[in-house]
Amino acid sequence: MKEYKYIPKKAMVIFAHPDDAEIGTGATIAKWIKNGSEVVYVLATTGSSGSNDMNMTSNKIVDIRSNEQIEAANVLGVKEIISLNFIDGMLESNRKLLSDLVLNIRKFKPETVFTHDPFRMNNFLHRDHRNLGFSVMDAIYPYARDHLHFPEQINNEVQPHKVKDLLFWGSDTPNVSIDVSEFASNKIESLAKHESQLPGLSLGSDYGKNILKRLKDSAKESDFKYAESFRMIVARS
Ligand SMILES: [Zn+2]
Repeated sequence: MKEYKYIPKKAMVIFAHPDDAEIGTGATIAKWIKNGSEVVYVLATTGSSGSNDMNMTSNKIVDIRSNEQIEAANVLGVKEIISLNFIDGMLESNRKLLSDLVLNIRKFKPETVFTHDPFRMNNFLHRDHRNLGFSVMDAIYPYARDHLHFPEQINNEVQPHKVKDLLFWGSDTPNVSIDVSEFASNKIESLAKHESQLPGLSLGSDYGKNILKRLKDSAKESDFKYAESFRMIVARS
């Protein structure tokens, strides 16, 4: 597997629910920020359905997860969380979502974007993840790039923008890996902030060990200890 060594000046992580970003790419984000990247999150839904507790309400879990997401982002040094506030479980790959994604890409102008792989075939995939993955692909090419799409957005600050690389996590067929040997603990520390979703997570817990094992598996074709792997597609010039 090819190593993705490039560290962009600006990266954007677009994800469906609080905790998806850290699961997908937490160690890479920690590494890139330490090396000077500016990283922003775009969180599509409020996470209002994420509880198995029969006494939990949607309003309560939204507040809890919002605070957890802020704390997790702070562990990694993420600059900003942009919340699109769609309803958990009801994310549609429609014109409204596309417009919101295009606007945020045109404003922040990331070189690299991370999101869910919508083409996962060998496992179940949350519908929100699939719909978001499709919309992020569309937003990057051609909608954010070409000025005649959503022309009403264009002004001095909001300009057509060409993203260079799109990296999908959760892919059946990853083709690049990123050396995160020094940053596995940052990933676990940030994920541990999502206490409502991952109770008791720590470096030494079973789930913590499971995360380390997956990072190790991703590195097995490389000579580094831990890796996060992605399916990368490069935007057309
Ligand atoms: Zn999710």
